Amino acid sequence: MPTLRNFSRHSLRQLCIVVLVCAGTAACTQQSEDPNSLTVYSARQEHLIKPLFDRYTEETGVKIRYITDSAGALLQRLQAEGENTPADILLTVDAGNLWQAAHKNLLQPIDSAPLKQHIPKYLRDPQGRWFGLSVRARTIVYSTERVDAGELSTYADLAEDKWRNRVCLRTAKKVYNQSLVAMLIVAQGEARTQNIVRGWVNNLAAPPFADDVAVMRAIEAGQCDVGIVNSYYFGRLQKDNPDIALALFWPNQQSNGVHVNISGAGVTRHANNVDGATRLLEWLAAGEAQALFAKLNLEFPANPEIPPAQQVQAWGDFEPNIINVSKAGELQAEAVQLMDRAGYH
Ligand code: FE
Repeated sequence: MPTLRNFSRHSLRQLCIVVLVCAGTAACTQQSEDPNSLTVYSARQEHLIKPLFDRYTEETGVKIRYITDSAGALLQRLQAEGENTPADILLTVDAGNLWQAAHKNLLQPIDSAPLKQHIPKYLRDPQGRWFGLSVRARTIVYSTERVDAGELSTYADLAEDKWRNRVCLRTAKKVYNQSLVAMLIVAQGEARTQNIVRGWVNNLAAPPFADDVAVMRAIEAGQCDVGIVNSYYFGRLQKDNPDIALALFWPNQQSNGVHVNISGAGVTRHANNVDGATRLLEWLAAGEAQALFAKLNLEFPANPEIPPAQQVQAWGDFEPNIINVSKAGELQAEAVQLMDRAGYH
């Protein structure tokens, strides 16, 4: 029977490294057993990814392990693990987060003809380090009881006096709002954007809320009349209550389009299985997988050839802002400072 004393100092150190690297990572326990298997770090919740991964395994035989956590925690983890990471793919929401991952050199460029073909240019990293897989619109939501859609026009219009004490917003700390303001800076410039954001703050009927659902509940309750939310949160409320007295409005249709963001993925810098990871991304960007990926969270497919789910289609067509979503990351720090100066917290 070998005892601990039989271990050389070297193997003991190796054992410690393995234990440390794998601590808490169910995903990595069988890492070396199957070279075709893939490991995904996902900031998307299990119920949004598992059905897709199960189907991929059914179709290809490739096993997919995954762990879910917040985007910030996964980025930190990738950074700490370095080349020992078991992760082949990082999957997360918001171009701001994907941009951060690329900026921290945690993703590698992938040159894939199918990905370029299926995902519009403005929804992927110009250097191929991440690709949008679903699209969410961050748009205006309004009370159908107290607002006529004809009164609405642009994001900037919500800063006008007519909306005084009628606006509800989510906290500026959420990356979704940081990305929205970053894209406003691209379209309107910094000075004009600061005036817009200050106007929103002046028009608030209540302090900023913790999440988009709270914004919509406040509108429903009559605390305010309009807000800005991600389309799928509205979709969830509407699914539960088809008669809900709220509706989405597509702003900026005469100018630069609705602010859209993505959930997306990239191949990690130190992936063990780059080819396999690329093939999974290509599969996610096409056909049935695209439809399912979008439908699970009531989003729009990133691939324009795939129609959205019926409920989502019923919200009507809109022109999106087609400035590359990577700008949301590039200008994130500027947006955060601007919101702070404007008193939006
Ligand atoms: Fe969300």
